Amino acid sequence: MSIQVFDVTKKFDDFTALQNISLEVAEGERVALLGPSGSGKTTLLRVISGLEPADSGRVVIRGNEMTDEKVSDRKVGFVFQHYALFRHMSVFENVAFGLRVRSKSERPGNADIKKRVLELLKLVRLDSMASRYPSQLSGGQRQRVALARALAIEPNMLLLDEPFGALDAKVRRELRQWLRELHDKLGMTSIFVTHDQEEALELADRVVVMNRGRIEQIGTPDEIYHHPANEFVCEFLGNVNFFHCRLEGEKVYLGNTGVRISDKFGLDSKHNKVYIRPHRLEISRVPAEDSFGATIRLIHSAGPLVRVEIEVHSGERASVELSQERFCELDLKKGEAVYVVAKEIRAYPGDYSI
Ligand code: ADP
Ligand code: MG
Repeated sequence: MSIQVFDVTKKFDDFTALQNISLEVAEGERVALLGPSGSGKTTLLRVISGLEPADSGRVVIRGNEMTDEKVSDRKVGFVFQHYALFRHMSVFENVAFGLRVRSKSERPGNADIKKRVLELLKLVRLDSMASRYPSQLSGGQRQRVALARALAIEPNMLLLDEPFGALDAKVRRELRQWLRELHDKLGMTSIFVTHDQEEALELADRVVVMNRGRIEQIGTPDEIYHHPANEFVCEFLGNVNFFHCRLEGEKVYLGNTGVRISDKFGLDSKHNKVYIRPHRLEISRVPAEDSFGATIRLIHSAGPLVRVEIEVHSGERASVELSQERFCELDLKKGEAVYVVAKEIRAYPGDYSI
């Protein structure tokens, strides 16, 4: 195991930022900490790195107890959202920094530093920019310098806190792909923080979903997307519709329509909320078994998928996603009455009054 966190709790005065967090990260694994702002992601990263002491619990890195060890002894590489590169230093010197500040006995010679820095700049594809200054680089290039700088000290693991958070969407997507390839090449263990679900699902081997200082679920992107453990994860990941419903026998009733469900998901109370992903709702022109009526309120057709906003008889609204082909076939118009079938319903027990 590369990183083990056992039962870590961290408070700031009487505010609990982390509550009984346990987590294991395997060697070479890429793990995302995903959650809304304030959920404790940065604090957890700081505790792992040694920048922040935990109130209780333990951190073990590669089998070595690190709970009371200094940051420098943990050999972690960092990249933050707003990585302050040294403005007065060239790209080369920024990357060399971590090596130059080592104690004399551990510091490589100048020729070795040069070799190492140039190798790293090649790796992040900035070898032609070694003599530039940070102000002469784009945001994406600066983040790549930050990454090269983090890698210079040959860290055991890489911790990235919203590394692409300040960049625009297109650059983020490019850097994401680049980071994945780099990670595979280096085989390094990394934990990265993001509040962007797409980034987490695309980049991580496993995702840790956090909320209010606790872990809601740990799983592969597939597991957390297709089998969310609870309401929070379900709502946080991807678009989802929810309807109030009541359970009667084998059916849940959305308004006056009974829809058979294959699994009762532990529902027993009469009033529940059910969740349906937009792509698991299907629109048709004719009624079918278990279909329910709805009215089309809005159509957004600019994009790879068409998103249709519908209103069901109870007055609740929902989004439906369908392909452009199916949309053309159905020839849907705003204001029309249609039938909708739910292909997959997920529910979480609880008493939600209608
Ligand atoms: P995230 O990274 O998920 O947005 P953080 O870990 O930064 O969340 O913060 C979690 C909570 O802890 C927030 O409510 C934040 O205000 C609080 N917090 C973080 N650092 C400190 C600190 N040094 N002093 C007081 N409160 C803090
Ligand atoms: Mg943060």
